[in-house]
Amino acid sequence: MMKETSQVKPNPFESATQQLRNAAGYLKLDEDTFQILSAPKRQLIVSLPVRMDNGSVRVFTGYRVQYNDARGPFKGGIRYHPGVTLDEVKALSAWMTWKTSVADIPYGGAKGGIICDPKHMSQPELERLTRRYAAAIAPFIGPYKDIPAPDVYTNAQTMAWILDTYSALEGHMSPGVVTGKPVPLGGSLGRDKATGRGAVFCTIEAAKVNKIDLKKATFAVEGFGNAGSNYAEILQGYGPRLMGASDSQGAITSKTPIDASKLIAYKERTGSVVGFPGSQKASERELLQMDVDVLSPAALENTILPEIAKGVKAKIVTECANGPTTPEADKILHANKVFVIPDILANSGGVIVSYLEWVQNLERIGWTETEVNDMLKKKITGAFGDVHAASLKHGTDMRTAAMIVAVGRVADAVRTLGIFP
Ligand code: NAD
Repeated sequence: MMKETSQVKPNPFESATQQLRNAAGYLKLDEDTFQILSAPKRQLIVSLPVRMDNGSVRVFTGYRVQYNDARGPFKGGIRYHPGVTLDEVKALSAWMTWKTSVADIPYGGAKGGIICDPKHMSQPELERLTRRYAAAIAPFIGPYKDIPAPDVYTNAQTMAWILDTYSALEGHMSPGVVTGKPVPLGGSLGRDKATGRGAVFCTIEAAKVNKIDLKKATFAVEGFGNAGSNYAEILQGYGPRLMGASDSQGAITSKTPIDASKLIAYKERTGSVVGFPGSQKASERELLQMDVDVLSPAALENTILPEIAKGVKAKIVTECANGPTTPEADKILHANKVFVIPDILANSGGVIVSYLEWVQNLERIGWTETEVNDMLKKKITGAFGDVHAASLKHGTDMRTAAMIVAVGRVADAVRTLGIFP
């Protein structure tokens, strides 16, 4: 086990396994089931030769890890980032398994990633890379096998390229192979904002449990991307005021409330939240330790490290990002009575609406945005209730409780299926 310091971040797969072991202890899980749940079912590593715009060929490395499908087809996003590693993708695939289980939707968990720097690639280069990746993983994905979706630095256009490549290889249009598609190709209304919206519904429930009046509350968001910016814009509609935000270019804080919609427009125009009129530039630490009621880490994993956690003043931490809090930092937040809405619950709105998109594709039906948002609210509020009830029953924090609920359901499915042959 790596030591946690601000310099050395823990291996994300070790963090994921540690969380599983913890839940297994509460569930008194037998060793055989624990062994099955600790290992991904399939790990694909693919080499992707791509013709770059300057005529040269670059070979990229891509991954698809399929963790567990006992409760339904594999499901999980695809990430484009220079820092992608196999262990990161394995961890994310495990968290997807627990996330679909805690949300109680009939899926397993998977994740994909390509080591690349999309910020320094042209659209045609990204298209060629995506299509080559889709072709490489095509035998292992499909509407009833494994259904990818967007994640960091991938989007609806990326899904359209995967859909087109997969459908060309299959010989027929197969919209159910990916979710998070553009609406004209079978994407669901409400999917683009679903992760942020779901996290807002969780925050509302957490505020009730903690007797916090959201009308008087303040909040800050680390990582003002898809999840973070939608979270901010939707949450401010319920009363809380945004006091700080960050992205990969830096952090800002403000003494007066920031209009999230204006900040979204500013970031779209300039490429960053930094320099937003009326704000001050801040360090990432200052942002994460702001005196606000709600803090949402919505960037990447391992940003709330122990030294940061010691100074977190927020009463509620809503983990829009996957794995933002290290296990050591988590213990500190718990000891300091910070109510953490864990990632697998807080950001499950995205996969819940992905599921609704997939159902619409398979059934050839279309729901209105209001219908989708209502179903999302019901599903995620129900999941919050299940997890909160488990936390009271076992006397645990919400993360442990979410894992108890999630791992318990997958373990039941694994045990009941038995082992083939
Ligand atoms: P995104 O690419 O839209 O946004 C990521 C944001 O984080 C960007 O604004 C980027 O500038 C910022 N960022 C990157 N490095 C940073 C750093 N060091 N400090 C501060 N900000 C930094 O991605 P996204 O889809 O919003 O995903 C964000 C997180 O939410 C990820 O952990 C992802 O796995 C998780 N998530 C996303 C969805 C979804 O539907 N989009 C669903 C579930 C979970």
